[in-house]
Amino acid sequence: SRRLLSPEKREDDADASIRPLSLDDFTGQKAARANLQIFINAAKARGDALDHVLFVGPPGLGKTTLAQIVARELGVNFRSTSGPVIAKAGDLAAQLTNLEERDVLFIDEIHRLNPAVEEILYPAMEDYQLDLIIGEGPAARSVKIELPKFTLVGATTRAGLLTTPLRDRFGIPIRLEFYTVDELELIVRRGARVLGLGMSEEGANEIARRSRGTPRIAGRLLRRVRDFAIVEGVQTVSRDLADKSLRLLDVDPIGLDLMDRKYLTMIANSFGGGPVGIETIAAALSEPRDAIEDIIEPYLIQKGFVQRTPRGRILTPHAFKHLGIPEPTRETA
Ligand code: ADP
Repeated sequence: SRRLLSPEKREDDADASIRPLSLDDFTGQKAARANLQIFINAAKARGDALDHVLFVGPPGLGKTTLAQIVARELGVNFRSTSGPVIAKAGDLAAQLTNLEERDVLFIDEIHRLNPAVEEILYPAMEDYQLDLIIGEGPAARSVKIELPKFTLVGATTRAGLLTTPLRDRFGIPIRLEFYTVDELELIVRRGARVLGLGMSEEGANEIARRSRGTPRIAGRLLRRVRDFAIVEGVQTVSRDLADKSLRLLDVDPIGLDLMDRKYLTMIANSFGGGPVGIETIAAALSEPRDAIEDIIEPYLIQKGFVQRTPRGRILTPHAFKHLGIPEPTRETA
């Protein structure tokens, strides 16, 4: 996606420089951090591998970052791959047999593993065993390979996308939440320090409010504002400069972009505010259903602009107010 406000990773996200390296450095996600800290301490005290961890939450909230931090805090190697990249059972087998005792294997987008690959993951997770079929036809035989005790860290956008047997094999499921404006403000200020950019509190607040609860977007907006600051020859980012630059980029004061506004105005104007089904919305916007459910809707729902009901999506009065469109009078049965 080319959207500035898309929470998905892009090539030009120079993420590494502002990435926190320890649980203490990690802003927000208080409950998740507290939980992880306890499980990590316990595993270290036992000298055992950490139980398998599943991170669930929209893109850009810090799943990969936390997985790296987990490995670092455990003092083990971090290996990383993703669901769509592992094409065959053999690819996963190669990854698994290369692990050392207690290592972390991170699988991003774990809901996109193909079923044949998922199959061999079950005994690997449960008994640290690989069951492989070698050869074909009558000559085929199954071999068992012992694996080191490792920790699988999976990441997915929605828990419902995982098959039940896979989901059940994670001892530590952790849900990540959108960040508050205060938390994002801290992240922006820390990022500005790393980039060597002067940042007023008000400037950081203005960027934070427009970051859709998402650190990845905060980092991206920060870099765009820095570009403006450089061009204008400004040392310290004021609220005014942040506001001016983000408006030029079509990011509205609460962080909605053209796509969000298109989604909302379409439901308001073409469907009287709903209820309207997700397939209909996808067709009307010419966007894949997944992208709408994973990327556009979570923030709009969290903002209280949209409700998911069994009959479809409904806009709230709040959304009409934000759009400046009068609310249709609904028949109440
Ligand atoms: P995900 O895996 O959930 O898509 P990432 O872990 O890749 O998200 O994080 C996206 C970006 O946001 C990275 O640049 C990361 O450094 C930054 N980030 C995420 N969470 C935090 C946080 N709590 N504090 C500071 N930066 C963060």
